Amino acid sequence: MDYFDKLKDVRWKNKRQEILERDNFTCQKCNSKRYYNTTDEVPEKIYDLFLNVHHFDYNGDPWESNNEDLVTLCESCHAYYHSIKNEELKKLEMIKIKRTMKLLSGANNE
Ligand SMILES: [Zn+2]
Ligand SMILES: [Zn+2]
Repeated sequence: MDYFDKLKDVRWKNKRQEILERDNFTCQKCNSKRYYNTTDEVPEKIYDLFLNVHHFDYNGDPWESNNEDLVTLCESCHAYYHSIKNEELKKLEMIKIKRTMKLLSGANNE
């Protein structure tokens, strides 16, 4: 099974749905709901186009990641995140997003 097949797996679909619901179908970086809030009944393919669930970290298969390592990002924030080449900057960006999401625990908590 390659990575793209895994993303079609029902276990990932369920996990993804769980994360989207946790994040209120809202991008955790720019707060954009994109088109999702224009109607209550947007077909799945619409928010599929605009909201991605990003893995900060992998822990085996895509659906096995901890929820703290998964975040809802809109397409443009997701593309931006992946465009960061500098690993340090990438890490800072991750910390920023996790802070907003209040997912950081322990020493990094305010
Ligand atoms: Zn965004
Ligand atoms: Zn990603």
